[in-house]
Amino acid sequence: MYPWLTAPWALWYEKLLSGRLAHGWLVTGPGGLGQPQFAREMAAAHLCAHPAANGPCGQCHSCQLLEHGNHPDLLVLGAENERSLGVDLIRDLSARLGATPQLGAGKVAIIEQAERLTEAAANALLKTLEEPAGRSLIILLSEVPDRLLATIRSRCQRLALNAPATAVALQWLRQQPGAEAAEPIHLLLNHGAPLRALEYLNTGRDPQRKALFSALADYLAARQKLPALLVALEPVLPYGLDWLYLLLLDALKLQTGASMAECRMSDAGSVIGRLSALPTARLLALVQGLSALRSNEEAFATAMPGLHLLNWCRLFYSEVSDVVS
Ligand SMILES: [Zn+2]
Repeated sequence: MYPWLTAPWALWYEKLLSGRLAHGWLVTGPGGLGQPQFAREMAAAHLCAHPAANGPCGQCHSCQLLEHGNHPDLLVLGAENERSLGVDLIRDLSARLGATPQLGAGKVAIIEQAERLTEAAANALLKTLEEPAGRSLIILLSEVPDRLLATIRSRCQRLALNAPATAVALQWLRQQPGAEAAEPIHLLLNHGAPLRALEYLNTGRDPQRKALFSALADYLAARQKLPALLVALEPVLPYGLDWLYLLLLDALKLQTGASMAECRMSDAGSVIGRLSALPTARLLALVQGLSALRSNEEAFATAMPGLHLLNWCRLFYSEVSDVVS
């Protein structure tokens, strides 16, 4: 168990031991805190034949099956599957939850990225949440719980996982291969979520971010033309949009009197300084344009976001032209 999850785990496990456990759970929080692992530990504890004082025993038949990933009473709709979860999937899940458990200790269903449930699927799940079969536990994971039907949310007990304090996260991060040189900025860039920061560092995104900002600095210093920005941006989509977004927010922050040290992208100080010389309305227009681009998930999932991106870069070009020198 990750160090930042031990406190929420202890609270949840105490409820399990006291027999006051709700059937439906909604686990929320920014991705990269280890939610899938947390949910599997909940499942293990629920199905364990001899639960210990602080968690599943790890020894019984059920724990062993879970460890090998083939427990017949655990049903998982993983994040890697369909982009939306339809009613047939949920009907099938409910039917399987209703069948007799093979090991006798109940059943568990885990639905990752539960916001993918269609309305019909959510309504089908509602029935199962209202009248759960036998000793079953249904765990929904979502980073954006507001996108779930209110009726689903109200029938689940909420368990919010929060990003750990920077010191706790950094200490863990620096012990991981490839992240020995982790800095607070790597956490800030990843919503404070240690596993996201680890992936960011291990997939070479930090040098990509620096390359993007250096293209931006060159552009603002009139050493490069607009296409160079596009060329730097295209290979780092969609993350690059997040970085630009945070950069613009930093420029707005500077305008309100914050210091560079308070900026997330403090390692791109010269670019932020240059952008903060723009009128606030223009910065806001750029931020809004980026927001629209970032939320346009379809564009990134189905095709090259080229046109939208080009439009935003054009907007950027016209808004910042006064500070290019
Ligand atoms: Zn066990």
